[in-house]
Amino acid sequence: MLFTIITLSILTFSIVSAYIFSHIMLNTDLLKAQKIQTSRYKKNVFQEHLPLIALNLGILYVISGLGLYFANGVFKIEMPSIGIFILQFGMMAIVDDTYFYFFHRLLHHNEYLFKKIHKIHHKASPPFALDFIYVHPLEWLGGATGTAFGILLVYILFGEINAYAFWFFAAVRNLHEVDIHSGIRSFFSKYIPFLGAAEHHEAHHARIKGNYSSMFTFWDKIFGTDLK
Ligand SMILES: [Zn+2]
Ligand SMILES: [Zn+2]
Repeated sequence: MLFTIITLSILTFSIVSAYIFSHIMLNTDLLKAQKIQTSRYKKNVFQEHLPLIALNLGILYVISGLGLYFANGVFKIEMPSIGIFILQFGMMAIVDDTYFYFFHRLLHHNEYLFKKIHKIHHKASPPFALDFIYVHPLEWLGGATGTAFGILLVYILFGEINAYAFWFFAAVRNLHEVDIHSGIRSFFSKYIPFLGAAEHHEAHHARIKGNYSSMFTFWDKIFGTDLK
């Protein structure tokens, strides 16, 4: 039960942070000096995006709730060694991000998938923090599959998943999404080596191509899809 409560609290904290940053950017000038976006938000954009964001939030809590209910036993709440913590966090993050890179690139390179599915996320131009949830529900579910692969790999290799490594991954993964859609200079990503900054994903939204990675930028460099 404790594991479920803490995991859902991390998710909720990320969403509340996204809401606060969205409100600040859409309705105030508080962070104007930190702004990296040059274009302006469309009128009533928050109200326009809200129904889809709410639907995806519902999906997120149902899927996470079910996943946590059925997989609760595989997570162990026990202070890990530094090695286990880094290894398990690293595996979840790298598997998830590798999957995301190829999934995201496919959504752009396949005309049908772009038109029918991914185009919705690119209506967020420029995006505000909560727009990380403004995606087609199939993209939302498809994207979450990478996270499940990472968790599964750690479970197969270690026989259990350390709860602290998982919570750290969940917090970094979600707060990073908030950060890269926030429209302001990275307040978070710059403290973690190799983590993609807001400027990286902002360029993707502005040009609707390239910079397909989310957490780490090395896939774009390896495959020549990074925007100069
Ligand atoms: Zn985006
Ligand atoms: Zn895209």
